[in-house]
Amino acid sequence: MSSTRDIDALIEMMAKLPGLGPRSSRRAVLHLIRKRALLLHPLADLMQSVARTARECLNCGNVGTADICDICTSNKRSNGELCVVEDVSDLWAMERTGAFKGRYHVLGGTLSALDAIGPDELRIPKLIDRIATEDITEVVLALNATVDGQTTAHYIADQLGETVQISTLAQGVPIGGELDYLDDGTIAAAFKARKKI
Ligand SMILES: [Zn+2]
Repeated sequence: MSSTRDIDALIEMMAKLPGLGPRSSRRAVLHLIRKRALLLHPLADLMQSVARTARECLNCGNVGTADICDICTSNKRSNGELCVVEDVSDLWAMERTGAFKGRYHVLGGTLSALDAIGPDELRIPKLIDRIATEDITEVVLALNATVDGQTTAHYIADQLGETVQISTLAQGVPIGGELDYLDDGTIAAAFKARKKI
């Protein structure tokens, strides 16, 4: 039996992580082994714990360690605003900004005719259910500026009709962005969404 069999297997497994290839994985594993007490043991413990407890919130689809996540259970977040995102990573990105104080709804993807993903494959029925039962007054559609993202936003807006106020994120020039470096679509969207100063 090879003396490095488990280590090789660990490198192979880590290389499957997003953003890591075989080279980065080898470096990471070597680093972990050298920092066994400081990194490897705590990491192994955390992974075991997360593997046991991580789950999707039954209400919004956020990932946490309880059936209903902290955002859904917090009274401070029940301001009537509901932000709809495609993925948990989008929810986490919004949370990092601290700009949104309401609750979320994670769709789990976008509608896609090509991949045969319809409303029932996403958390759209649950979204409509939540709007009817929670005191939602505004829905913010924070979907990606892709064709599928925008198709999904229009579909949801159609389904919700006049029942709530619906808004979308502004599209345009990023903070610190220079016009010369932007693609034509971004410039066109920014121009369309121009505002008075
Ligand atoms: Zn939740």
